[in-house]
Order: sequence, then structure tokens, then C-alpha cells
Amino acid sequence: MNIVLFGPPGAGKGTQAIKLAESFDYIHLSTGDIFRRNIKAKNKLGILAASYIDKGELVPDEVTIKMLEEEANKHPNAKGLIFDGFPRTIEQAEALDFFLSNHYNSKVDKMLSLEVEDDELIKRLVERGKTSGRSDDADADIIKNRIVEYNKKTAPLKNYYLNQGKCFEIKGVGSIVEIFQRLAAEVE
Ligand code: AMP
Repeated sequence: MNIVLFGPPGAGKGTQAIKLAESFDYIHLSTGDIFRRNIKAKNKLGILAASYIDKGELVPDEVTIKMLEEEANKHPNAKGLIFDGFPRTIEQAEALDFFLSNHYNSKVDKMLSLEVEDDELIKRLVERGKTSGRSDDADADIIKNRIVEYNKKTAPLKNYYLNQGKCFEIKGVGSIVEIFQRLAAEVE
């Protein structure tokens, strides 16, 4: 079972992906987390990624796709994969389909789209910025740019999955437990 957890920055993808992975014994793959690990390690990939992340821009597809595939290949026998923050462009979605079908004879089974209004997203990200230590949560202009990038490059992906009958919209407001139950019902 391969699930894409989709939604704008601040929709709650990270929180819910962790809970879903725990509950269903799936592997959680978050490109944002992997970038942040590399940034902390101050390696070449981290330095490159930070130059985009710190502006609220997407890291180039080529770099992101290669990194994600390497990470996924560490879990060849996973019962299921939860993709959190990937794909974020049509090119990434096509690369993921190709990768899953060629290497694992599998596919994206469902795309769960967390639906949250822009005003609420900004409120959540500003609040998270007070404690997350994330440079891209700390500045209102960077937050706004992430939402602009999302609307321009990532939101069109919804149609990509809608056309394949794989997109399921989930209300992303309410308590963490309520949202989790809505998501879990779709995974089951
Ligand atoms: P996230 O933790 O998912 O909010 O990601 C934090 C930042 O990492 C994003 O704002 C992007 O700059 C970068 N990033 C994460 N995932 C991707 C991706 N799939 N494609 C391009 N950039 C990404």
C-alpha cells in the first residue's frame, strides 16, 4: 500500500504521517525531514537544499527525486509507504509512478489531500515557528512564499491524481485525533 499524503504547508501532513505509519506499520518518507537531516549534517546536499528552503522555494526536482528514491530503496520489504511532502510537482509524481512500477511492480494506491484554508495555514505556521526551530517557519514572507509555491507548482497535482481516481479529500481541521480517524478510515 503506497499512500501520498498531500496538502499545503501547515496542513498537518507530518503529524498525521507519523501517526499513520505507527498505526499501520508503514514506512514514513518525508522529503522535508530528509532535507533537514542533511542540513544539520552540513553536507553538500544540505547546503544546496538550504539555499532553496530558506527562501521558501522548492528544491529542484532532480535532486529531490534522486534523494527520495535512495531513501525508499532502504525499505524494499515495507508493508506500505507513506509519502509526506512528496511529490510536490507533476515531474515528481511522474517519476514516483515510474520508480514504483519499475522497481517494485507497484503504484500509488491513494492520495489523501488534507484540506485547510489559507488563513488557518498561516496562523498554524506562525505558531509552529515559535517552537519548531525551522528557519522557513520563522518569517512571514517565507511562509507566504511557500504557500505561493504550493499554489503554483503543487496544487495542480491534485488533478493528476483526481484523473486517476486516486484523490480523496480529507477535512484537515479539527483535533489531531479526529483528522487521524478520517485518514485512517481511507487507508483501511
Ligand atoms: P516540508 O517539511 O515538507 O514542509 O518541506 C520543507 C521544505 O523542504 C519545503 O518548503 C521545500 O523547500 C523543501 N521540500 C520538501 N519536500 C520537497 C519536494 N518534494 N520538492 C521540492 N522541495 C521540497
